[in-house]
Amino acid sequence: MPLFFESVRVGRLPFFGAAARPPSSHRRLLVRMTDNNELKRLDHTYLWHPFTQMQEWMGEEPCIIAKGEGHYLVDIKGRKYLDGVSSLWCNVFGHRRQELDEALREQIGRVAHSTFLGLSHVPGIELAEKLIEIAPSGLNRVFYSDNGATAVEVALKMAFQYWQLKGEKERTRFASLVEAYHGDTIGAMSVGYSETFHRFHRPLLFPVLRLNPPHIFRYFQNMNEQDALQSAIQEAEEKLSRERDSLAAFIMEPLMQGAAGMWSQPLGYVKALSEICRKNRILFILDEVATGFGRTGKMFACEHAGVSPDILCLAKGITGGYLPLAATLATEEIFSAFLGEYGECKSFFHGHTYTGNPLGCAVALASLEIFKKEKILERMQDKIAHLKRRLEEDFLSLSHVADVRQWGFMVGIELVEDKSGRKNYAPEKRIGHKVILEARRRDVMIRPLGDVIILMPPLTIAEDELKSLLDVTWESIKAVTEG
Ligand code: PMP
Repeated sequence: MPLFFESVRVGRLPFFGAAARPPSSHRRLLVRMTDNNELKRLDHTYLWHPFTQMQEWMGEEPCIIAKGEGHYLVDIKGRKYLDGVSSLWCNVFGHRRQELDEALREQIGRVAHSTFLGLSHVPGIELAEKLIEIAPSGLNRVFYSDNGATAVEVALKMAFQYWQLKGEKERTRFASLVEAYHGDTIGAMSVGYSETFHRFHRPLLFPVLRLNPPHIFRYFQNMNEQDALQSAIQEAEEKLSRERDSLAAFIMEPLMQGAAGMWSQPLGYVKALSEICRKNRILFILDEVATGFGRTGKMFACEHAGVSPDILCLAKGITGGYLPLAATLATEEIFSAFLGEYGECKSFFHGHTYTGNPLGCAVALASLEIFKKEKILERMQDKIAHLKRRLEEDFLSLSHVADVRQWGFMVGIELVEDKSGRKNYAPEKRIGHKVILEARRRDVMIRPLGDVIILMPPLTIAEDELKSLLDVTWESIKAVTEG
């Protein structure tokens, strides 16, 4: 251990005042863990970050987060950044929310984890009731897992087994949208194929029937929104009814295909797809991992369209962005197909060690309470309108902003080299990446998807914070694309 670590006095560390002096057994570690250079060395020596070109990462100064405060993240040097993408789209009420912290502490005082296989626990039971209370009508069973991809895997396996149990054994295939993203496990990658992310694993994936979404910026160019919608619905009608006897389910992200680059859909699309599926007896699965828990301005995106799915996948915001927990909700019709004598082997043989973790469930319950008590959804509406106004008035006039897409607090700002010809920047120019580094210099943390700049603030963001998120994003785009 270098001498430096021995000589620093713990009392002077940035995050531990005298009152919060850590136990002596931890001091050495904490001293070491506040030294940026040492942490950088350790990160670059031992870590492999997700969705990250590590060669590039190891050539850059890492931003190492030490703590969160409300809508801000604070790095190890004490610098504060506005969390403009809700820590990968999951944070709901900011960091260190007192009620969530307390719920977590209280649950730790009872039990941190106990299995859900063959046992139950209090917060898991209570949360299931609350989820069913707020879920779209018809959904009345909750199956827990740990993250968005597993919520989707569960949905796919559930739908597949449902038809096997019903004796319609030829219904073995799935349909989904082009450039959908449903997570990174094999089933989720199969239904959510993205060329950029998944091409190396293509031979591992099962074939899926793809529908073109009504995305006018890339697919139905030169069409207005209404014509694009009609074309996409017609295509869905033809393909799904032609393949109806072989399809177990159709899965989609309602209103906004997030990871594709915030591809928004007109309202009528979700409704039309749900009707086509119902008519053809194809199970309708909605992946609301990203859109759920208020992101689009309602608790669930499907409420805008007045639609209830057969299966609903939830994760991310379920715990207010605190802990990995997911839920797959199903109808009684699906659930009851799995009932039978033990020897019939109809059970749903799926589960994970941390399925329905009690800490996650306790925090999720506290989070739902905040939604209700503070009328979070109502209080977002003015800010959603403000966001819309600013995007249309200020951003669209920038010379390299070709499109802005928004549903509630989900925003994509698409940057191109040539606006009139819709010519993309060459990927190696790393324009989106440069914009977010520029924003970081201005104390705002955002993250792009290629050259689409994503804004996804916590639902409780204050008006002045939202204004600075927009101002900084605007300045950063201008600096990189016109500077
Ligand atoms: N579905 C959707 C719509 C998502 O946006 C994501 C993640 N961004 C996932 C599934 C996967 O969730 P997770 O990262 O928790 O596995």
